[in-house]
Amino acid sequence: MKRCIALDGPLTVADFMAAALGHPQYGYYRTRDPLGMAGDFTTAPEISQVFGELIGLWMAEMWRLHGSSTGVRLVELGPGRGTLMADMLRAASRMPGFLDAITIHMVETSPTLRRAQGQALAAYAKVTWHDNLTEVPDGQMLLVANEFLDALPIHQLVRTEKGWCEKLVVWDESTDRPVFGLSPGASPVENLLADNVRRNSEIGAVAEVSPHSLAVATEIAQRLQSGIAALIVDYGYRDSAAGDTLQAVKNHDYAPVLDNIGEADLTAHVDFAAVGRAAAEAGATPHGPITQRDFMLDLGALHRRDALLARATPAQAKVIKTSVQRLIDPKEMGTLFKVMAVTANSEAAANPPPGF
Ligand code: SAH
Repeated sequence: MKRCIALDGPLTVADFMAAALGHPQYGYYRTRDPLGMAGDFTTAPEISQVFGELIGLWMAEMWRLHGSSTGVRLVELGPGRGTLMADMLRAASRMPGFLDAITIHMVETSPTLRRAQGQALAAYAKVTWHDNLTEVPDGQMLLVANEFLDALPIHQLVRTEKGWCEKLVVWDESTDRPVFGLSPGASPVENLLADNVRRNSEIGAVAEVSPHSLAVATEIAQRLQSGIAALIVDYGYRDSAAGDTLQAVKNHDYAPVLDNIGEADLTAHVDFAAVGRAAAEAGATPHGPITQRDFMLDLGALHRRDALLARATPAQAKVIKTSVQRLIDPKEMGTLFKVMAVTANSEAAANPPPGF
């Protein structure tokens, strides 16, 4: 990182994040499996199978509602250990014809996680891996992204007397470590801020923009012109607002953002309003976001939990209850996590997707 800054000068927070997470040799996601107890953080599909099962049923139902076509691309962005896709497929395979109608596309950059995904999906044919969504062949698409957008780089802008300046990561020679600084003039990224945030924030306020996330939302929307739907799940906020949400997590605990570079996960909350606007501008219809709690309850999380409980030992029953609770409890993941669906305009006109 020091060499990077010495060569290129101060980095934007977005460039810093991209390097810390994605550097081919030292990047956080390139060098490890970050998930689970032994890793740094855990995610909904790793907590309870009910999460992936409900999403699989949602996908199968959308497929049925939209004519049960063949040659549909089932795409996952940032599939982690492959647990979500495996749980989805197990549940969706109950829909007659679904498995034969799809090909499976995993968008993943980490070689370690690609291996784990291959193992999780060993029972399924027609799985291919891609470095980005652009590489996935065109056609009707069902797409899911859980905790993917939060890992994409964000710019941080600070409101000053001179306008919105770019927060930078600079090298402090005296302490020989990275520190935050500020660009001398206003940043062109300011144009991507929501109008209310750009106009109404106080001096000193921090605002975040993720051109990478907006580009992904645009690409999803364009691809949906061929039909069907996408489901985006992440922690974030419903309305664009100022605030510094950049965080580092290591060993299931928060860590200072500029420590442990490449050794800690870096994420930012997702601005769902901005994602929805980008999708709408590209010709698709966003639905929600609604809370993960409402989405899961509406799709029958408690019925599925009770079905699992009926076959469980007392020890298993305890785990099943607490894990489902963790996903829907407002004090845990229930309301911080949001779910947004995106459909092509023509489809949205008829009916909103299940749960929305
Ligand atoms: N969806 C999984 C994992 C979330 S962690 C789950 O819910 O458990 C983020 C995932 O996105 C990891 O698989 C990581 O390797 C992948 N990832 C991060 N940045 C990426 C990028 N730019 N392109 C593709 N995959 C990326």
